[in-house]
Amino acid sequence: MSENIKEKKLISFTFDDGPNTDTTPLVLDILEKHKIPASFFIIGKLVTEETIPVLKREAELGCDIHNHSWTHSFMDKFTPEEIRKEIKDTSDVIYEATGQTAKFFRPPYIVTSQEMFDNIDLPFICGVNCLDWDPTVSAEKRKQLILDNAKDGDIVLLHDLSGNMNTVNALEDMITGLLDKGFTFVTITELFEQKGIDPNVKNKVWSNVFE
Ligand SMILES: [Zn+2]
Repeated sequence: MSENIKEKKLISFTFDDGPNTDTTPLVLDILEKHKIPASFFIIGKLVTEETIPVLKREAELGCDIHNHSWTHSFMDKFTPEEIRKEIKDTSDVIYEATGQTAKFFRPPYIVTSQEMFDNIDLPFICGVNCLDWDPTVSAEKRKQLILDNAKDGDIVLLHDLSGNMNTVNALEDMITGLLDKGFTFVTITELFEQKGIDPNVKNKVWSNVFE
């Protein structure tokens, strides 16, 4: 009997605030070592001649790349035109650098507004987190929060923010710990596809595909 993919425990690691040339390559080294894919929500203005090779490497490793806005601002303060420009410019630069079409949006600071829902034509993603933007939260604590709370269908919110070494240092143990618990790692695109769930739900912010 073939294994039913819908019954497999799936989890998707997502990384915000790159690309950069210090932390992002270290994250990619660990993903490559364990042959697992992840998804990167990138800040458009950080895509430069220097970081484009990092972005290309993400794509080559089977990761997918999504939209975290151009300037990483509080977009609830923006006009509809400004909101649309943030998204279009970022999706355009992702496509130019990698040929990938951004399929998801993570709002900066997870701040949303009706204006944003009405002007951004991508599913909104939040995610379960381990406070990994807070430099006082240790690598050990980050790992424990993820391993203790992981469940099937989770989107895990992490940061490859420049200098975020506590996450780099926790990442390998997070991965091996979740593999030991029987999870399979997939990109966020695959997570929705394999669970048979349409992410296009108006005014919704996803952290788990079943909730
Ligand atoms: Zn961010």
